[in-house]
Amino acid sequence: MTLSVIASCALAGLDAPAVRVEVHLAAGLPAFSVVGLADTEVRESRERVRAAIANAGFEFPAGRLIVNLAPADLPKESGRFDLPIAIGVLLASGQIGLPELAPGRRAAAMASSLSRLVMAGELSLTGALVPIAGALAIALAVARRQPDAELIMPAASAAEAARVPDLHVVGAATLADVVSHLAGTAVLPRAKPARVDKAPAPPCLSDVRGQTAACRALEVAAAGGHSLLLVGAPGTGKSMLAQRLGGLLPPLAGHIALEAAALASLSRTQAPPYGARPFRSPHHSTTSVALVGGGSRPQPGEISLAHHGVLFLDELPEFNRQALEALREPLETGKVAIARARHRTEYPARFQLIAAMNPCRCGWHGHATRKCQCTPDQVVAYRNRISGPILDRIDMQVDVPSLGAAWVDASAGQRSADVAERVAAALAIQEKRQGGSNATLDTSGTDRHCTTDPAARELWKESMINLNWSARSAHRVLRVARTVADLAGARKINAVHLSEAVQYRRPGEQPR
Ligand SMILES: [Zn+2]
Repeated sequence: MTLSVIASCALAGLDAPAVRVEVHLAAGLPAFSVVGLADTEVRESRERVRAAIANAGFEFPAGRLIVNLAPADLPKESGRFDLPIAIGVLLASGQIGLPELAPGRRAAAMASSLSRLVMAGELSLTGALVPIAGALAIALAVARRQPDAELIMPAASAAEAARVPDLHVVGAATLADVVSHLAGTAVLPRAKPARVDKAPAPPCLSDVRGQTAACRALEVAAAGGHSLLLVGAPGTGKSMLAQRLGGLLPPLAGHIALEAAALASLSRTQAPPYGARPFRSPHHSTTSVALVGGGSRPQPGEISLAHHGVLFLDELPEFNRQALEALREPLETGKVAIARARHRTEYPARFQLIAAMNPCRCGWHGHATRKCQCTPDQVVAYRNRISGPILDRIDMQVDVPSLGAAWVDASAGQRSADVAERVAAALAIQEKRQGGSNATLDTSGTDRHCTTDPAARELWKESMINLNWSARSAHRVLRVARTVADLAGARKINAVHLSEAVQYRRPGEQPR
């Protein structure tokens, strides 16, 4: 065989498009070239492949070797093509022995087993396989594209990839192991999924004292996937509340747990325990690239690392305005597109936003005992730092009042476990009714599922006029009211449900 073809994958966002690694060995002066718009790293891979083949006890063929990575227009970075290139070279030069078969059947047997194979792995100079980034993303894409595939990966990455059910993943430690596996002399076992670390128990809502209304708002936000802005003086417990949102949500399972873990595996940050809701709280000095993703080599941003979890933005007005504006599209669509010079990368970003801010610059506006130093103009200016369109996209806005001395006698909040039960029941109703949370309903879905009784309808129309809502705001209120009704187990939204939802728009305090 002088031509060999091995299947591998590139990475584009969370997707891993198929790449064909073609290796052709021709007579001629010794040369080794890689074509197919490969970047610097793939060219470096040439040197690693050459050393790994020699150090694994094989011979690097003398002749003209051409490697083509197709299709040409995909971005191909990282060393994950080392393994398929090395195997391709060994196949093309006839150094991989096949199981003993009649000569006529050899080629056919090889072709059929090769067509099922997908390989990805970086080689060290010694021939050992080095773990690769995005192993789980690759496994998800391969399982979707070719469910009967056998995916060969470095042993350390294989355990992660093996979380994908029904996909045959094999982990190998060295190039020589892969060769023996293909030759049938030492077949490698199917990889076992990585152990699931038990997540530490999330902080309990009962730690929050006295903030009954804010705790209720947190429950409603959790029960419908709604974004929430908490406004209150320093020390009123806004961060405490935000950190308890994750504990009210059901743990991740099935495909969504895989997707969240795959996004974490694409980035260099510490991944949360498998199945735990991601909770990301970037500092307000964060750049818009770090927040929404991007960079010369695209990486998922905080909003994608918070996919299926919680994104907490404390001190919202202090965030870079450009960074906040970049949240507008993902808040609507649940994904973010990053345009690079030649390619467009897309990452999912269906996160639940919880934000917190002080009522004014000094922080004490409306406080029970401390005096605010700001002029009324300064208070308005501070709130105007968050643009109307962003505020418009936050479903619920709630005051977290300072309790002063009353805090001492205030009762503890409800236990997270009790609230989580009600939240899970409400989310189950929504899943059954419309296949997603109320927050994800579009305009037609809102019209179809947010049915009101006549009194509620009247109240909704009245509030819309009196409080000067945009159509977008009016629909948001209706979706929040739908969640309040779901928590109450009601089929139709009534005036009580609706008026609770109206409260969450903080009328009169919205900057215009
Ligand atoms: Zn102030």
